[in-house]
Amino acid sequence: MIKTEDKLMMMPGPVSVPHRVLMAMAKPMINHRGKEFSAIYDDCQRISASLFNTAQENVSVISGSGTAGMEAAVGCLNGKDDKILAIENGKFGQRFKKLAGKYGTVVPLEFEWGKSVDLAAVEEKLAAGDIKTITMVHNESSTAIRNPAPEIGALAKKYGAYFILDVVSSLGGDDIRIDEWNVDVAVTGSQKCIAAPPGISVVAANERALAEMENIATRPYYLDLVAYHKSASKELKETPYTPAVSLFFAMQEALKIIEEEGLDNRIERHYLMTKAVRDAVTAIGVEMFPQLNDVSAYSNTVSAMKAPAGISGEDIKKALNKRGIIITGGQDDLKGKIFRIGSMGSTTPTNIMTTLSELEQVLYDMGIAEETGAVMEIAGKTMAKLYE
Ligand code: PLP
Repeated sequence: MIKTEDKLMMMPGPVSVPHRVLMAMAKPMINHRGKEFSAIYDDCQRISASLFNTAQENVSVISGSGTAGMEAAVGCLNGKDDKILAIENGKFGQRFKKLAGKYGTVVPLEFEWGKSVDLAAVEEKLAAGDIKTITMVHNESSTAIRNPAPEIGALAKKYGAYFILDVVSSLGGDDIRIDEWNVDVAVTGSQKCIAAPPGISVVAANERALAEMENIATRPYYLDLVAYHKSASKELKETPYTPAVSLFFAMQEALKIIEEEGLDNRIERHYLMTKAVRDAVTAIGVEMFPQLNDVSAYSNTVSAMKAPAGISGEDIKKALNKRGIIITGGQDDLKGKIFRIGSMGSTTPTNIMTTLSELEQVLYDMGIAEETGAVMEIAGKTMAKLYE
């Protein structure tokens, strides 16, 4: 039996964390109010801002997973009578809808999970009037779709709505330009393309959103972005409450690794690794799950495949686990119907090759693949640039 610590993490988060980042967490504790912490917060803010393509002062770094950031965004910007257009085409869009119901008045706009967002339907809802805020997930990890953020941002601008965008599973692994896209609040998590452990959320909110948040009396207390901004504006930067200091050490180190790789290189690596998965699995007869008209709507960081007829995605997941590779299945109604492979963070082309050949072997053993060895050549060709 392969020991847990020897297994390869190929889920769409949490991902395997580089040794440097793990070591950073072992540093002795420091005062969370003072020069040292301020410098760490400043690094986290500055490098994250470069990934969001926004100004550093817009960024808050919060102790809490991605959902904490989603809640901060929705709850700080909306009161109970405010209408929130919640776009859903997967599990995390649905989470925004549920959050919207806690703080505001939801106007749901649901598309079948695995299908694209229909821009005309979004515009129709906006034209009907009164929508204060739009929520959408950029990279819907549950279905491996990249949703059309620039287009929704343009519609938000046209109708004067605020736009909250979840970039939890794409920031640091895909091109995100929140200022250009008219995104008012964007949210990410530490455990996906940033390759830090789970437990930190980064939220970027622009001036317009922050000004409106001042008017919302029902803002959550712990997740109050106004309070976060005030604390980060002090001469020595800090957080309103005691932060998860060791996770901040990890986050700082993980973000430095991104800086060293260079964002463009990192995005290209994510693209080529994800495309290699797609090219290889489709070549051996496995169908991609998303039904898309446009290849640019495939996620840059995760792939979702249909389980072949007569086979459960859960069985593929279990068989791979026995062989030392951890992937994920489908969520909710998609359980058993799909399986998902992440190519996020510090994942290497070698990790992708190993995963694909083990998958091919598993499918061969199940009587699905006709031969073994085909995926290596296909994926190798797609990722050739990464071997230069
Ligand atoms: N949004 C997306 C797109 C995600 O993939 C996830 C986590 O899988 C979340 C939000 C929720 O983040 P967390 O589990 O860190 O709270």
